[in-house]
Amino acid sequence: MSGNESGAADYPGLQADERPIPDGYEFALLLTHDVDRPYKTYQSLYYALTDAGNRRYHLSSMLPSTDPYWQFDRVMAIERDLGVRSAWYFLVEQRLQDRPLREWLTLDAWRLYAGRYSMDNPRIRAVVDDLADGDWEVGLHGSYHSPRDRDRLRAEKRAVEDVLGDRVTGVRQHYLNLAVPETWHHHRAVGLQYDASLGSSDDYGFQHGYGVKRPFDDDFVVFPLTIMEQSLPDPGADFDTALAACESVLQEARENDAVASVLWHPRHFSERDFPGYGRLYRTLVERALDLGAWVGSPGAFYEVADLSSPPGGTENDAGGSALRTHRLEDSTT
Ligand SMILES: [Zn+2]
Repeated sequence: MSGNESGAADYPGLQADERPIPDGYEFALLLTHDVDRPYKTYQSLYYALTDAGNRRYHLSSMLPSTDPYWQFDRVMAIERDLGVRSAWYFLVEQRLQDRPLREWLTLDAWRLYAGRYSMDNPRIRAVVDDLADGDWEVGLHGSYHSPRDRDRLRAEKRAVEDVLGDRVTGVRQHYLNLAVPETWHHHRAVGLQYDASLGSSDDYGFQHGYGVKRPFDDDFVVFPLTIMEQSLPDPGADFDTALAACESVLQEARENDAVASVLWHPRHFSERDFPGYGRLYRTLVERALDLGAWVGSPGAFYEVADLSSPPGGTENDAGGSALRTHRLEDSTT
């Protein structure tokens, strides 16, 4: 599987289009990062072969002291500077040696497993501590083999929680692999509150409407992905065109009280490897703030927008309307 299963958008449970923008804001922009490959390893060899002009750089970037994909500090500095926070989704993958032997010599296996990291790695643990201490959200990046495997998802979630020392509430699937509604049933069953996998790696925009989805009409919500950085015009080639694309999404969000979300992979903050993407991210967030957006992580938005109680209440939720009344009363005082 790669990407959303075809027909995912037609699932009847996606008709809801809730736009709970917090008071005083024009729209919402949710910030997310999938932690795929914090170390540049096999990519260096690949780029050395395909990008002859920079061969020397790509080979030298394999040296452990260089680590161009280790961008946690830069991203945290940008967000701290702008006064915003994001969510970081961590992968818990099997090692290649734990997969069937027949997979070992396939290209897919190398794409999937080379550069794998472990949540037990001391540097990863230190980063998770820093993120948690600084009020960033830490979530799960479901592995390639998890979308249809509830036990695996449960174990992966627990592995992140063990390092975090707290509950994980949000998930995005690696490669946006999503079987609808099966994957969401699994996410909900293992105690996740939201999924952020509905979307495209090829197209940006509001293909799934402007609001939050509730596939099961309960407290489990889906935040459709509005922009994955790689779907935008290349900011290294033409920054203004890339920025104009972001600006059009922000304007559309503002006009429609939308809940928009963006995904910037940490490696795209390596200026040498992905020129322009870091600056584009910073400019996008600054612009969103200028336009009056609530900006933050999906987990924080879930709390601020009080998404645990569906607007219509659920069949089993006798207290739903009472909660809503209470909220109305709060807002009048
Ligand atoms: Zn991924």
